[in-house]
Amino acid sequence: MEDFDFEEERIKQEISRLDSKRVLLQFPEGLKREGPRLAKMIEKEGALPIISADPCYGACDLATSEAELLGIDLIIHFGHAKLLKHERIPTVYVEARATVVIDETLEKAFHLMEKWNKIGLATTVQHVQTLGHVSETLVRSGKTVVVGDAGQMVYPGQVSGCDFSNVRSIESAVEAFLFIGGGRFHALGVALATSKPTIVVDPYDRRVFSLEEDANKILKQRWACIEEAKNAETFGVLIGLKSGQKDIDEALKIKEMLRKSGKIACLFALREVLPEALIEFPSVDAYVNTTCPRISIDAFSKFKKPVLTKREFMVVSGEISWKTLLNRGLLEK
Ligand code: SF4
Repeated sequence: MEDFDFEEERIKQEISRLDSKRVLLQFPEGLKREGPRLAKMIEKEGALPIISADPCYGACDLATSEAELLGIDLIIHFGHAKLLKHERIPTVYVEARATVVIDETLEKAFHLMEKWNKIGLATTVQHVQTLGHVSETLVRSGKTVVVGDAGQMVYPGQVSGCDFSNVRSIESAVEAFLFIGGGRFHALGVALATSKPTIVVDPYDRRVFSLEEDANKILKQRWACIEEAKNAETFGVLIGLKSGQKDIDEALKIKEMLRKSGKIACLFALREVLPEALIEFPSVDAYVNTTCPRISIDAFSKFKKPVLTKREFMVVSGEISWKTLLNRGLLEK
């Protein structure tokens, strides 16, 4: 895969520095195919590589328990920046920075930005190194550019699937956002978190597009979900089993709130929030999801019952209004 930097030399140095004997390699879906090649390289360094074949969507899902079961002494986590404050097992993060050239694709975005002067930049960890260049290009064309640095993410301008603090910190200073990165997932988060027009520059597909319609469609779906859940009598409260998603205290708080309002609440623990898992509980009318908030939104059409985020539940319980929810951000934990 020539589009990403897998930092092979740094991996070798870390294995030698830590004298690692058994190494667990963890990749997000798009990068897994590199596993066998990197495993071969690690084996030549004298360590035993094991590739995690389970799904991985973020650094919140560091395979710590799996590593402990396997007697691993080093985890190499690819494709995400560090998220957890402490790791129980030594961990090296390889962010897999993109090496694609974006100039031609960026050029195509100018006509979509004509009506705005103040542009906020956002991206994933794969492209944070391009923001300086993108900013210079926009400034040369007469735009004012702002990059947020709220201090929660590792890099200025960086967003994750559930942390948009960098774009929210500058939303009042810009008219629109320009997102650099592949696909819709993160860019849609920017649009939903800020309610600002968001233009995507996808360097892999060499496409530019606006997300306004998608964001409006999702807001309508979420509103309908909340309204349906208001009529629910029996709730399931979902507890995530992934290291960075587990929030038992929050789940217990929600269960207690439901009890006080005369509803029935049952706790469910699971690694993956899948429609086929929830369908086994037909007596549950709606779920409150304390795991990854994106599942409620991105897999909306696959669930037969409303699956609310924690923040959406606050609207159902009457703690906050729909408007306040939109102001605070729909997606963040
Ligand atoms: S909780 Fe979900 S959106 Fe947030 S980092 Fe983890 S996988 Fe991504």
